[in-house]
Amino acid sequence: MHIGRYEFPQSLDEAAASIFNEGAVPLGGGAWTNAVSRPIHYALDLSDLGLRYIEDRGREVAIGAMATLRDIEISLTLDSAFCGIFSKALGHVVGVQLRNLVTAGGSVAGRYGFSDLNTVFLALGATVVFHDGATSSCAEFLEAPRNAPFLIKEIRVPKGSAASYQSLRVAANDFPILNVCVATAATEWRVSVGARPQAARLSLRAAEFLGLSDKPEDRAIQAGLLAAAELKFGDDTRGSAEYRRELCSVLVKRAVVEAGQRI
Ligand SMILES: Cc1cc2nc3c(=O)[nH]c(=O)nc-3n(C[C@H](O)[C@H](O)[C@H](O)COP(=O)(O)OP(=O)(O)OC[C@H]3O[C@@H](n4cnc5c(N)ncnc54)[C@H](O)[C@@H]3O)c2cc1C
Repeated sequence: MHIGRYEFPQSLDEAAASIFNEGAVPLGGGAWTNAVSRPIHYALDLSDLGLRYIEDRGREVAIGAMATLRDIEISLTLDSAFCGIFSKALGHVVGVQLRNLVTAGGSVAGRYGFSDLNTVFLALGATVVFHDGATSSCAEFLEAPRNAPFLIKEIRVPKGSAASYQSLRVAANDFPILNVCVATAATEWRVSVGARPQAARLSLRAAEFLGLSDKPEDRAIQAGLLAAAELKFGDDTRGSAEYRRELCSVLVKRAVVEAGQRI
């Protein structure tokens, strides 16, 4: 990766000014930026901004943009608040060395189709918080067009959901063929499916169907079929669209049953 200018801004405002006025590129762990190997004329290292934290704020947990996937994976705060699903979702991302490097902010900002973290954030109803305090639901953010620059400060995850995460990989540390997260709080359900191979999306039909009954185990199979019918799937080297559709119905069913047992 060739970088022309490399700086450590000392405040979010300073970083934002460089991004918006000079086209600077913010770096999280730099792992994906390095993997795609495009030249960067002006890079911002966000390490000095105090954004590496995971804080319990009562009704929600805030995850700073520079928290690494490993921080999230082993966080006791997240483990107890969210049924261990962050640990389950991230424990297969490549290896510990990479997870010690890659960040929550970089994962969300990149809107990667294969992201395990974004599928979990989506199902839990997370909110993306920008440098100036403006917010966007994770669902809106993942669907938004990618033309304007932005700087993510943190991701806020509301507590109180029972949830389950499921995925299938060809090999343990490969990209997922498909990943699914189901979360429920009161009568509301969210069913999120990622690695389709496109970025995670919610199945509104499955969620609505699940909300009509207090016996999710009776509705798990049909919810899986509804999600598979509603969402779009594509082909790549890891699986065909048809295979992913089949997989979706199975993984959603499993996730609904498991989330239901955790209520
Ligand atoms: C070989 C490899 C395999 C992987 N496999 C998986 C996998 O199986 N599952 C999975 O979930 N993930 C996987 N990942 C992705 C990884 O989890 C991260 O999502 C990815 O590396 C981006 O995180 P980063 O910190 O490296 O971001 P960077 O590369 O630093 O940045 C990525 C993008 O986000 C922007 N950005 C970074 N931080 C901010 C911010 N605070 N505000 C605004 N924009 C920002 C950058 O400008 C850049 O455009 C893999 C990554 C690699 C390199």
